[in-house]
Amino acid sequence: MKRHNFSAGPCILPQEVLLKSSEAVMDFNGSGLSLIEISHRSKGFVDVMEKARSLALELLGLEGKGYKALFLQGGASMQFLMVTLNLLEKKAGYLNTGTWSENAIKEARIFGDIFEVASSKDKKHSYIPKGYEIPKDYDYFHCTSNNTIFGTQIKKFPNCPIPMVCDMSSDIFSRQLDFSKFDLIYAGAQKNMGPAGTTLVVVKEEILGKVSRNIPSIMDYNVHINKSSMYNTPPVFAVYTSMLTLEWLKNLGGIKGVEIENDKKATLMYSEIDLNPLFNGYTTKEDRSNMNATFTLANEDLKETFDTMCQEAGIEGLNGHRSVGGYRASMYNALSLDSVKALVEVMSELESKA
Ligand SMILES: *Cc1c(COP(=O)(O)O)cnc(C)c1O
Repeated sequence: MKRHNFSAGPCILPQEVLLKSSEAVMDFNGSGLSLIEISHRSKGFVDVMEKARSLALELLGLEGKGYKALFLQGGASMQFLMVTLNLLEKKAGYLNTGTWSENAIKEARIFGDIFEVASSKDKKHSYIPKGYEIPKDYDYFHCTSNNTIFGTQIKKFPNCPIPMVCDMSSDIFSRQLDFSKFDLIYAGAQKNMGPAGTTLVVVKEEILGKVSRNIPSIMDYNVHINKSSMYNTPPVFAVYTSMLTLEWLKNLGGIKGVEIENDKKATLMYSEIDLNPLFNGYTTKEDRSNMNATFTLANEDLKETFDTMCQEAGIEGLNGHRSVGGYRASMYNALSLDSVKALVEVMSELESKA
């Protein structure tokens, strides 16, 4: 039996994507060769890369708007550094909403003056700060759309007078947004798009080439753009599998289609957390993430019973991040409503037992 996979990342991918990508590992497009043993310069793979890049822009509604999509390596964590090398001259503003923002700030501080325009640290990142000012003389503003670890999500983005950079690793392609508000978006593939090993970067070309430093080639977005995301050997399996997921998403009706499902899942999950006296939500209600629902048991003595019941119901990956504890149900695009129903059933069964 396929288990209900609530893992935070790497995480669930659509079954049909897993099937197709495993077939390609044995025989890519009937070529008699494996996807992972052919040249990345072969027409077969170049087509894959181009398809993945154009699907990403199409799904985000950014085609023909001056953006380029890249599939890079080094994870979202390398983007903390790469963004800075490409965009920071002197000063930048960061919104601190949790661990990933803090890591981004730490890397950026190596290269310039980094200011926290607002922070949710005072309440252990259980909410999203609002009503802050973004100074016009900063080089850029950086935010994290979804706080994977603590379970908060920015619902309304600020009107930003300077280039806006966003780490969308854990909620890209999950909800409709005006993506043209952002000048640079990056996302590690392993949360809503594919296997670990590639990172999507979508960048508005006009913001590049403005810093005075020499940027090492592999860190330079313009180098990757000029080489059509093939400056060096790309992670072919991760790019191919991401392309399949983007195709799957397009067939579901794009972001608009999947957002409806994501809303249903989150509504069901949070209504159980709110109604069931045995569980407490971790975050402020208005800032709850539709991707990662964090909660704790009101009575820790029930932990063993609850964990066993989850195991028996085929529920996996529910442990909270090691820095927070408790539980975290990650409900990425590929997770079905039935999986959330299975979890909610176990939660209410626990209530009737207790
Ligand atoms: C997981 C995650 C990261 C780290 O991604 P890596 O690809 O492991 O470097 C960064 N930001 C957010 C929001 C994440 O969820």
